[in-house]
Amino acid sequence: MGKISEHYSTRRLTTLGIGGLARFFAEAESTEELQSLIQRAARNKIPHCIIGRGSNLLISDKGYDGMVLRLKPRQLGGIFQTDGRLIVDASVTLGHFCNFCAANGIGGFEFLCGIPGNMGGAVVMNAGAHGKNIGDHVESVQFLHKGGTVISAVKPAFSYRHCHLDGMDALLSVDLRAENFFTPPEKIRRQQTELRQWRSNRQPSGPSAGSIFKNPDGHSAGKLIDDAGLKGYTIGGAQISQMHGNFIINRGNATCADMLELIELIRATVRRKFAIELQLEVHYLGPSGFEII
Ligand SMILES: Cc1cc2nc3c(=O)[nH]c(=O)nc-3n(C[C@H](O)[C@H](O)[C@H](O)COP(=O)(O)OP(=O)(O)OC[C@H]3O[C@@H](n4cnc5c(N)ncnc54)[C@H](O)[C@@H]3O)c2cc1C
Repeated sequence: MGKISEHYSTRRLTTLGIGGLARFFAEAESTEELQSLIQRAARNKIPHCIIGRGSNLLISDKGYDGMVLRLKPRQLGGIFQTDGRLIVDASVTLGHFCNFCAANGIGGFEFLCGIPGNMGGAVVMNAGAHGKNIGDHVESVQFLHKGGTVISAVKPAFSYRHCHLDGMDALLSVDLRAENFFTPPEKIRRQQTELRQWRSNRQPSGPSAGSIFKNPDGHSAGKLIDDAGLKGYTIGGAQISQMHGNFIINRGNATCADMLELIELIRATVRRKFAIELQLEVHYLGPSGFEII
């Protein structure tokens, strides 16, 4: 079993590079190992939470008073083709998945190219881009229930950046419907390159968690923030990107407190100017667990 580290800096676990200490941290090599770590934490009455690659996470400066668990990314394997579908392990990074699709002529998932994170995080977030969401391709998932049993072949309910699965503790794998198994690999690679280029022309490259807010119905959060004149606004080490209003960049020494202050300032300004309430897309992990803020 992988090592359990004590007082682990969660900064290393998020793309924002922000977060206090987790009481414990462990990386599981397999879903079986993840289950056994969860059981061990439960036996010792230690709360736990599962994260992916931390690309949609804001973690408190006070850290997390429990065990943070994640699946170690696989370099090989974790993706199985069967009957026009793909069974993908939650640990598989989207980068690895997109390379697999390109190499094997599996078309239809190009929209995932350039989104950081792993398959578990993508399904839990119903990640998407260019008008497509991963939930549209999900036939079913396998997950670990909070009661400890593994539940298979369940189709979750998806909505915008949300996946609803009653009692889900850890997502283990997903059964995806592919659009086309005979797409020429070079066509997929060309499209992936174009989409990567599209991102680098529009999104900043500094440490961020992607879009901070969900787009309100009929509006773009980035445009509202831009129209409010907030681009470039800085609190401590956290800055609203000059390139994209819905990205907050850690300029090197940002704290979670800086981020939360900036988030509140954006919300208050957008509310005052446009009477629109912005909701966080990013998930917030506080000392006692995930919180809606
Ligand atoms: C530069 C940049 C660009 C981005 N662009 C996009 C984009 O175009 N579209 C988009 O949708 N998102 C985008 N994102 C956000 C982010 O990459 C996605 O939401 C991604 O799917 C999150 O995956 P993750 O593995 O990093 O999950 P994390 O951020 O680690 O976790 C997100 C949530 O999922 C839960 N979770 C993760 N894995 C599991 C599991 N196995 N079991 C149970 N719960 C789990 C966590 O507890 C948390 O609540 C971007 C982020 C960055 C930094």
